[in-house]
Amino acid sequence: MEKIKLGISACLLGENVRYDGGHKLDRFLTDTLGQYVEYVPICPEVKCGLPVPRESMHLEGDPDSPRLVTIRTKQDMTDRMVRWAMKRVAELEKEDLCGFIFKSDSPSSGMERVRVYNEKGMPVKKGVGMFARIFMEHFPLLPTEDEGRLHDPKLRDNFIERIFALRRWREALEEKESRGNVVDFHTKHKLLILSHSPKHYQTMGKLVAKAKDLPLKELYQKYQTLLMESLYLKTSPKKNANVLQHMTGYFKEQLSSDEKQELLEVIDFYRKGYIPLIVPVTLINHYVRKYDQPYLKQQIYLNPHPLELQLRNHV
Ligand code: SF4
Repeated sequence: MEKIKLGISACLLGENVRYDGGHKLDRFLTDTLGQYVEYVPICPEVKCGLPVPRESMHLEGDPDSPRLVTIRTKQDMTDRMVRWAMKRVAELEKEDLCGFIFKSDSPSSGMERVRVYNEKGMPVKKGVGMFARIFMEHFPLLPTEDEGRLHDPKLRDNFIERIFALRRWREALEEKESRGNVVDFHTKHKLLILSHSPKHYQTMGKLVAKAKDLPLKELYQKYQTLLMESLYLKTSPKKNANVLQHMTGYFKEQLSSDEKQELLEVIDFYRKGYIPLIVPVTLINHYVRKYDQPYLKQQIYLNPHPLELQLRNHV
């Protein structure tokens, strides 16, 4: 797989672009995730023409449509930022981004719970950074996260799973635009989708079953929307345990009753939170290889992202 292209707030890569001339380097993003992704760094405040260092800013007014204002001299930067951001998101359409990692709490880059001050100077944590809002409105299906939330193992696993899935989807389309490609992609992703949303699993199954009745572009669009919506929904130990139990059914003939018992126990220990997801997944992967199980060996659920990221060791 080619490297995944991700937009990122430039200060997270260690660029000295913050208002005080500093940065917010995040080593996980640069050293670990950085091995698999190509970043497109963006500092909205610098790129819209502000200097480094500069007066710090915050959001003021209505949390749903706040103004971006410098804190000491009260200069309103809203129009300047909006003009630049609208132009930049249009340019980014050519970049083939699979997602964006924003800097948390920033009045320009924060994707949620950014402080917005009312006329009495009291903050409410209900805002979205000005560039982040315009980006997310322009690309509503692209996976987005901030570096603070990515410290949570479940959110990290979810975000990285989504960007890898989107990259695979785009590669499938680049290979050849055909209904067969959609069916093939769906077959490989069925159990991954089921682990996020049984409802989407049903809907997408029906969509793919009537693929030949739909114009190709409509099929792609509908499938991609459902794919990104489904993977956005969180997995849970219960949903994962259901998928894992479903997989054990493929080994009815091969496993002894002791082995079956052991596998079901391991799944149950995972469901109860005693062991991480990687344990039952490793055991099933072992049986898939040993018995060369044709359906399961193509299931992305068993290897949705590189093992080296260790994402399933903590969920
Ligand atoms: S948070 Fe955004 S605007 Fe602020 S320094 Fe980082 S990239 Fe620039």
